Amino acid sequence: MNYDWLASARDQFVRLSAQLPHAILIQSALGMGKHKLATEMVSSLLCEAPVKHEQSLQACGECRNCTMFDSGNHPDFHYISSERYVESNDSVLAHYAERYLEAPEKRGKRKPRKIISVDQIRTLIDNFGLSNHSADRKIALIMPADTMNINASNALLKLLEEPNPDSVIILVCNDLSRLPMTIRSRCIGLNVDPPLLEQAVAWLTSQGVSDDKAYKALAICGGAPLLALDYIRADEVNDFEAVLEALLAMQGGGVGPVETREVLLKLQPPAVLLNWLQLVINWLIANLQMQAHSGPAPWKAYTRVFSKLSRQSDVSKRAALFRLYDELLSIKKQDTDIVNPGLLLDKWLISYSRLL
Ligand SMILES: [Zn+2]
Repeated sequence: MNYDWLASARDQFVRLSAQLPHAILIQSALGMGKHKLATEMVSSLLCEAPVKHEQSLQACGECRNCTMFDSGNHPDFHYISSERYVESNDSVLAHYAERYLEAPEKRGKRKPRKIISVDQIRTLIDNFGLSNHSADRKIALIMPADTMNINASNALLKLLEEPNPDSVIILVCNDLSRLPMTIRSRCIGLNVDPPLLEQAVAWLTSQGVSDDKAYKALAICGGAPLLALDYIRADEVNDFEAVLEALLAMQGGGVGPVETREVLLKLQPPAVLLNWLQLVINWLIANLQMQAHSGPAPWKAYTRVFSKLSRQSDVSKRAALFRLYDELLSIKKQDTDIVNPGLLLDKWLISYSRLL
């Protein structure tokens, strides 16, 4: 899988590699192929004879450094990630991550951690101080960099401020707002542009997905093709549609907020539901704004159900929709290990039903 839409990002990297900075920050929303792009960049930086192919730089796959990298044993490559991310993204990189994670037998039964800890960054700093083994430079990949906790970020900042010679740090980030500005300002940015809608649909259909499903999944996933494919494979498009139907049923008056909450919680965990509800409110708000501006609507794939949902949301309800959106934001900020997410959802659904 080549991910054609990465062409511009690959081209940016070719130009950066002429005078390699100490730190590169790759940024885009989830599901755009950053994992693959970062892996390509690391392998071409380690390779002894990278090949320039059109506007991209690719590892030769045959030299000693390539062989070591592919077997998961390159001593100059350091991969820092969270336990949660490594568990859900199986690739050649997983071997490298283990060097910086607690051994599974020591973890016992505790849940995999979602964060990158300060200890991981401190170990990286120690290892980065040692001389290179085989490649011309040492490379650290920190992915997802936005899962570093504050202490980890502060520790990394010191390394970014006083970079080791012959070293590159690549940070990969899904949500820039979670990364301190002090870190961002020390990196050269590399943006991954989302594909055009038709390009993303073409890629999904090449994976055996129907046109109709592709459009729907892309609408839900903000145009991110890999995330859309995950959604389709996990049947989450159907779950999303069930959420829309549940909101419609509540709008019809036959079903109350508490019953609706029960229906929703059977479909997905609260974190996913909150994102979806946020998306629906976003669409409803955008729909009001579109009444003055014409243009393609992201919910085009859901015209039928959406026209019913938005029937009630005339301009006078605009302020209420913004309040509903903010309420979702504040629910998302709460620690759902402490607060019962079902109760928060109830409260929100009551506010929503009052708007109808
Ligand atoms: Zn090579």
